[in-house]
Amino acid sequence: MTPTFDLEAPLLLMAVTDPWTRTKVRRALQTAGYRLVETASAAAVLANLRQTRPALILLDCALADQDGFQTCGQLRSLIEVANLPILLLTERTDLRGAQRAFDAGATDSMVKPISGRQLCFRVKTLLQLQQAVTDLQNAQSRIRQLRRTDHLTTLANSSRFRTHLNRFLASAPTNTTLTLLYLDLDRFKRINDTLGHLTGDRVLIQIAQRIQGALASAIAEGLLPCALEECCCARFGGDEFAVMLPGIDPQQVAPQLAHQLLSCLTQPFAVDGYEVVMTASLGISHFPGDTRDPDTLLKNAATAAYHAKQQGGNNSQIFQPNLLGGSAGRLRMENELRKALHNGELALYFQPQVALKDHRLFGAEALLRWHHPRLGTLLPGSFLPIAMESGLIVDIDEWVWKQACRQLADWQKQGWGDLHLSVNLSGQLYWQSRCIESLLCILRSSGADPCRLEIELTENTLMRRDRVTLDFLGHFKALGAQIAIDDFGTGFSSLGYLKDFPVDTLKIDRSFIRGLDEEGDPCPIIDAILAMGKSMGLRVVCEGIENKFQLAALKELGCPFGQGFYLGRPMPDALFTRHWHLHKASV
Ligand code: C2E
Ligand code: CA
Ligand code: CA
Repeated sequence: MTPTFDLEAPLLLMAVTDPWTRTKVRRALQTAGYRLVETASAAAVLANLRQTRPALILLDCALADQDGFQTCGQLRSLIEVANLPILLLTERTDLRGAQRAFDAGATDSMVKPISGRQLCFRVKTLLQLQQAVTDLQNAQSRIRQLRRTDHLTTLANSSRFRTHLNRFLASAPTNTTLTLLYLDLDRFKRINDTLGHLTGDRVLIQIAQRIQGALASAIAEGLLPCALEECCCARFGGDEFAVMLPGIDPQQVAPQLAHQLLSCLTQPFAVDGYEVVMTASLGISHFPGDTRDPDTLLKNAATAAYHAKQQGGNNSQIFQPNLLGGSAGRLRMENELRKALHNGELALYFQPQVALKDHRLFGAEALLRWHHPRLGTLLPGSFLPIAMESGLIVDIDEWVWKQACRQLADWQKQGWGDLHLSVNLSGQLYWQSRCIESLLCILRSSGADPCRLEIELTENTLMRRDRVTLDFLGHFKALGAQIAIDDFGTGFSSLGYLKDFPVDTLKIDRSFIRGLDEEGDPCPIIDAILAMGKSMGLRVVCEGIENKFQLAALKELGCPFGQGFYLGRPMPDALFTRHWHLHKASV
């Protein structure tokens, strides 16, 4: 009867010369359900190996053309046999048969004459062991793979990227070029803070897909002369990505690709029912132009990305050696700023706000200063960007708020109940409802009359119109406090948010006032804002009045309130208190 073969059954390759053993082996193994390929010589085993891909090799110690031990040794040196079980049949007369079999690389040996049942048992055990080893190897390779993959986006992780970069540079032939792009999302933290980490994760997944999509298009267009895997697109930590671009023209193609990557992100992302708009800061470094060292190459690209962020984000910068001081200096500043909060190095200065028609002083804007132990008094422009990026801004805003409420309460206790105080808050605070509770609590416990307090927010913050911001402003307004839009006219062109938010004041940005010079050129924007303020019943304050011409022009235009160096510089609390005192005495 012809045996029927199960194609799923393991296939064994056997090489046995003596007919009696061969028949016994065949019967036993076929009865046990194994598939068999039979040969009698070492040459035939080697010839059949690649084609048959056996699960186990069974070798007789004496083959037609050579010794079985020698054949076993030869097989072991082949890559496809490296992990395969080899069972060697030895002679009873060969006392050291088992030892010789192991020395030759056999997995196991049996002495002839063999028992069919024992052979099947041995083969089964060897195959099970082999399966266990294979499973273990697969698991190990999966772990290795996972350790090199970013679980969220399935892109490479930083460790794989570095290994890839090291290998590439180590084996790079002369004339090889490599461009490295480092992409850092702008203000990604706000997504996590506003919409939660799960939504933030989904945005990151989509961003990874967009980046890969943009690279695939560049490859299809012939802009990138490599395969997608060679770009080794990776996620570095939270919201940073890196891409390797081998063999492109660093001057022409790299900026073009950088531009395409930035553009692909600016299309809104639809996530969990929200529409999220993202931008990124992108840094570019080159091998061998900038450096031959992989770590430095990566650091240079990150430095350039940081520089792009300093330029306001949503742009790319090519690494230049003069940027190097920046990131180290920035890190130092961040650490110093963290300490500054607790060391009492921050202070509020107060800039007078004046009614233009009669120069009546009616209040002040609180402006932050940092009395830096090494660098002297710093303006917010030199440290707020670092505070924003590092998240320290939340603590700073809270500190400013506490200080401002305390100061206002102090002035009110001195009998100056009509003094109005404006406080700048970065939008970041509103995304955390916990902070909002704490702000309201600080205000209540300070004892300050909220009716004299105003929050200055930028248009960009109000544009988001999110629930938390609306709630906070609602609570704040209910206490009698006011809301001003800072730098009005410089933000988004849509003014739709004015309908949703209970705004009281528009502060015309000082860039518009700059144009009002001696020539007395009319400024249509100021005119339009004044008209809009009037029709909506809003107070309008003009910022940055620096000379008498600007003051006269604004009076002429009918601007009711102003602020600027010409009317009073920002000053420490004691000086402002004196200023207020003198002013009150003079009217
Ligand atoms: P801002 O809210 O527009 O504040 C007005 C800025 O204009 C202040 O700069 C002020 O010193 C400056 N300024 C006032 N009058 C004139 C003038 O006549 N000419 C010129 N050239 N400048 C004038 P400062 O104090 O450097 O603040 C810069 C920005 O930093 C502020 O712009 C505000 O956005 C932010 N900031 C200031 N203090 C705080 C704060 O306590 N918290 C937060 N979150 N941001 C703050
Ligand atoms: Ca302001
Ligand atoms: Ca302003």
